[in-house]
Amino acid sequence: MVGSTDSVLDWARDHRMHHKYSETDADPHNATRGFFFSHVGWLLVRKHPEIKAKGHTIDMNDLWADPVLRFQKKYYLILMPLVCFILPTYIPTLWGESLWNAYFVSAIFRYVYVLNVTWLVNSAAHKWGSKPYDKHINPVETKSVSLVVLGEGFHNYHHTFPWDYKTAELGNYSLNFSKLFIDTMAKIGWAYDLKTVSADVIEKRVKRTGDGTHQEWGYEELHEHTQ
Ligand SMILES: [Zn+2]
Ligand SMILES: [Zn+2]
Repeated sequence: MVGSTDSVLDWARDHRMHHKYSETDADPHNATRGFFFSHVGWLLVRKHPEIKAKGHTIDMNDLWADPVLRFQKKYYLILMPLVCFILPTYIPTLWGESLWNAYFVSAIFRYVYVLNVTWLVNSAAHKWGSKPYDKHINPVETKSVSLVVLGEGFHNYHHTFPWDYKTAELGNYSLNFSKLFIDTMAKIGWAYDLKTVSADVIEKRVKRTGDGTHQEWGYEELHEHTQ
């Protein structure tokens, strides 16, 4: 977590590498190197040379064109400690919380918790679960991870159809708060051109490369009520 390696731009570049070179040495958190490496180990060692070698193949111009992201990258070393540690420690003291309680609970605990549930998408969601869309890849569907990460645990779907903003077949609001957030932003015009996948394309893919567990998720009935 040192330097500016966690700005949105850096995180997005790593994530694009993760999708383009999934489960190879050019994937920053290559899950074939084990649970620990894909969870947090990848942040504790130098990046694999393949990541540097292939990094230039990732086009980041769309994100660099965004002034908000450039601002966040430029001032990361001020913004990160301020928003992540200083404000969460200071604000609870306004209603009488002790400095240490505020520091350990709303700063440190929140930070450790959010990092770990985010990392579960790279570790657990590449290991334990079913593969209704593509049985030839490692990412899986897992309800427990989806619950804590607010959406992205539908990882077999997400790696099969990475352009779908829902990161899941259905906008199941009980497990997919990320979709609810993006939908809300779309309503006020802050998000637009949302891409998704038609039920027809999903069905064909499920039949062609799925592991046969699609039925168990009950999506067919849900399709009639939601979407
Ligand atoms: Zn992704
Ligand atoms: Zn993944």
